[in-house]
Amino acid sequence: MKVSALPKMIPINTPRIDEREIEMVTKVLKSGILTARVGSSSMVASFEQAYAKLVEAKHAVAVNSGTAALHMALFAAGVKPGDEVIVPSFTFVATAEVVVLCGAQPVFVDISPLTYNIDPEKFRKAINAKTRAVIPVDLYGLSADMQAISKIAKEHNLAFVEDAAQAHGAAYRGKSPGYFADIACWSFYASKNMTTGEGGMITTDNDEYAEALRCMKSHGEKGEYVSLMLGHNYRMPEIAAAIGIAQLEKLPTFLEKRRRNAQRLTEKLSLVKRLTLPMEPEGYKHSWYLYTVRLQNSNRAERDKTVEELRKRGIGATVYYSTPIHLMPYYRKFAMHRLSESEKASEQVFSLPVHPGVTLQEIDFIVDSVIEVVG
Ligand SMILES: *Cc1c(COP(=O)(O)O)cnc(C)c1O
Repeated sequence: MKVSALPKMIPINTPRIDEREIEMVTKVLKSGILTARVGSSSMVASFEQAYAKLVEAKHAVAVNSGTAALHMALFAAGVKPGDEVIVPSFTFVATAEVVVLCGAQPVFVDISPLTYNIDPEKFRKAINAKTRAVIPVDLYGLSADMQAISKIAKEHNLAFVEDAAQAHGAAYRGKSPGYFADIACWSFYASKNMTTGEGGMITTDNDEYAEALRCMKSHGEKGEYVSLMLGHNYRMPEIAAAIGIAQLEKLPTFLEKRRRNAQRLTEKLSLVKRLTLPMEPEGYKHSWYLYTVRLQNSNRAERDKTVEELRKRGIGATVYYSTPIHLMPYYRKFAMHRLSESEKASEQVFSLPVHPGVTLQEIDFIVDSVIEVVG
């Protein structure tokens, strides 16, 4: 089918690429250097420096996906077989997947129904002698309660890895994501607030972690072909870093437009009684990666029908995440008990387009359609 024959749909997220990215990528192609030695002067090194500055971290280490970032962060933190790592279940699967890749056991903890983020008190209750680390997620772009989590992690000597894959541009108590964590992991997947196509970043203030991460991302090598430790090939290509540099320049504009769109949605949808709108509590700054609403007192069928009706009207409404990880076929074996708030949220939430490509006119169309469908 020709693309033009498809009905027009306002997508839930879409990369924003223009001449600047093309110019940067062309520069790499003309240079002939498509991948650079770790630590050498390169697009990757420039991107790392600029990213570290953005999030006010001492170190930034670029890798080839957000999942690679999480995997390496856990590995650097010494997570090994026999360990337990506490994670939310209401998140993208990568958060738990990397725990299993380290041979450890994911322990799923429920969320707060208001923020959709891990509940610090439930996290505390899940800690035992085997617990080695915790991975809170800044879901939809809203920071988890990092100060509370950091305090508990310190009391129990746990590694604190933040999954900030959705949180570029978010803030918590005036600080960037990662500030309260030992290591923060970011994703530049094509749908995220900024992209390199595929890519990721690890930020930390810890010198030892940074050195180990640089080593690990390229086969554990320090010198040439001499592996000091177990590693992997998690290097970011130069072309990806070139796109990242261009995207980073535009990030403030992207975030402004997301915020403007989110504000307009909130203003106009607050009249819809059945919807619980996303919150931005005092002291938090949302990155507005996803504008996620909850259809109160609904079940899965009614929520799915609502999404379908919106999609028929050309609105790319999408459910994140319709299956919490502990209920996925592969991960059921790690589930210890039910997680009622995660399960309920997975049946009631859906997200509306809020990305920088959505015009205010389209926002108004989305609002009118939601009112028509939900009442
Ligand atoms: C996108 C995402 C990841 C994984 O990032 P990739 O770059 O796709 O590997 C991990 N965690 C969360 C919460 C994400 O949204």
